[in-house]
Formats: sequence, C-alpha cells, structure tokens
Amino acid sequence: MTIVFKVSPNVQKKMIEYYQDAKREKTPPYAIFQAMEADTIITLYESGKAMFQGVSADIDANIWVDMEKKLNNRLIDISENQKKQDKYKDELKYYYSISTIGSDEVGTGDYFGPIVVTASYVDKSKIDFINELGVKDSKKLTDEKILKIAPLLMKEIPYVTFTLNNADYNKYQNLGYNMNKIKAILHNKVLYSLTHKEEKYPYQKIVVDQFVYPRKYFEHILEATQKVTDITFTTKAESKCASVAVSSIISRYIFLMKMSELSKELGITIPKGANDIVDEVGISIIKKYGLNKLEEVAKLNFKNTQKIKEALRSKN
Ligand code: MN
Repeated sequence: MTIVFKVSPNVQKKMIEYYQDAKREKTPPYAIFQAMEADTIITLYESGKAMFQGVSADIDANIWVDMEKKLNNRLIDISENQKKQDKYKDELKYYYSISTIGSDEVGTGDYFGPIVVTASYVDKSKIDFINELGVKDSKKLTDEKILKIAPLLMKEIPYVTFTLNNADYNKYQNLGYNMNKIKAILHNKVLYSLTHKEEKYPYQKIVVDQFVYPRKYFEHILEATQKVTDITFTTKAESKCASVAVSSIISRYIFLMKMSELSKELGITIPKGANDIVDEVGISIIKKYGLNKLEEVAKLNFKNTQKIKEALRSKN
C-alpha cells in the first residue's frame, strides 16, 4: 500500500520531530527525510508531499490526517489513493489481456538527437514472450538492456517507426508548431501507417500515452488528411500496455543508434537531455563546425541555444 498526500508546513514540523529517531541514514533525492516505523517507510519531500509505504501504511498516514484536521481543520481523503491504485491495477490486467496497437516517442526532452516515434502491434499470443524479455516498465530499463532486447522485439513484433531530424523539427517550430502538435502529428503518422499496411492486425484497442487531452490531440492533427481516430488515451501507458512499452523500447533503441552515429560524425560524444553538459557540447560544435551545424543537430527553441550563444559571446 502506498499513500501520498501534501502536508501543511506546521504538520511537516511535527512529522520531522516525530520520526527523529526512526530516520534512515540515506535520504532519497528531493526528500527532507525518510524513516522506517514498524513496517512502514515514511518519506517527506521538499515539495511537502508525504509518502507512506507498506502493508500498514494507513496507520501512520492516519496520524497525520488527524493532525491536519486538528491543527488546520483540513480534511484529507486517503481512500482516493487506494482507488487510484486499484484502478491502475485493473487497467494493467486489462491491457495485458488483449491485442493492442500502441505508440510512444522519445527525444522530446533532448536538445540533441532526433524525435523518434514508433507504433507497434502486440498480439495477445506475444505477451508471454514480451514479459520474458522484461519489457514492462520500459522507462526503468537501462540503455544496455534496450540495446539487447530491442533487436529481438523488432524481429518478432510488427512496427512502424519515424525519425524527425532536428532540421525538420526546427522548421516545424518556425511554423509555430509546439511540441505537442509535433508529437500528435508524428503519432498519427505511424499509427496510420501501421493500421494501413497490407497485413491487417486484429487489434482490440489502439493505445496512446496521453500527453494532451484527446480533444487537443485531434485539434493538432486537424489538417492531416489521413487520420486514426479510434484511440484510447491513457496516462502511464508505457507501464500499462505491452505495445506502448514495445514502441517505447524500439524508439529508444533507434534514438541511441542515432546519437552514436552523430557522436561519430562530429567526433564529440553527444549527451542526452538538456543540462549544462549539453551546453558545453553545443559550444564545441559551434567552435568546430559553425552555427549552421548546431541548427542541424539541435532543437533550437530549447533554452540551451541562448545559453550557448551567450557563453560564446562572453568568451570573445
Ligand atoms: Mn510517452
């Protein structure tokens, strides 16, 4: 059982005192403390959220629910937590019992490297094979594991993938397309190709990891002449639905390949993400190849571009 709720500052103070002696030596990232009381792990985060984990998590949680009521006259309903988790478990069971088409993308948070979107069809009969490979919770898989299992999946599972290079990404941005619109266009593209292949796949649902409200998604693809509309949108789809997980893994695999190609081509190790190391590499690229190269290999609308340009200006 896991219970999470936000705790008011005065109650946070009480919690810190109360768990003083039960504190664990190590504190997870962004946590004020983590404590172990009986079988319950209690974590208080800097955001003010408290998390209670364990079979009797409700006992500890209720101490602070009562305290909130007493000190702040605040009512917290922890049964909502349980309902959400039950719903998630039901969905997980459901999506892993049917044949689905699902899509997922990577690269949208990375300054360098393309956006890769994949749609795949996972037949019910393949779910055991997929579970054996350890596909579930694809977000938690290491790059090493991705490199190992993606080729096996690509051999066994029908899929369509599309890679949007950054020169084209930057053109889209110049047209005023935001990231969600670009994502919607790309998801629609691969879903359409997969559902209109010569071979027809007997899917029961098309699942997309929800990144915007469905209404907005369809607004984004309004101009597309070829559209897939029978979509089930759900959050955390890559952990609930096998085909979304497979698509996420294939996308990541192709992304990793492209990143290593790019590293070889430029003679610089190209990092993922959008942190300070990325800025350093951006500076090196401009110094070595000029600004034009950066426009080819980076998502220019990210804040990194400004930071890179400023750093170069101040050095000159
Ligand atoms: Mn996703």
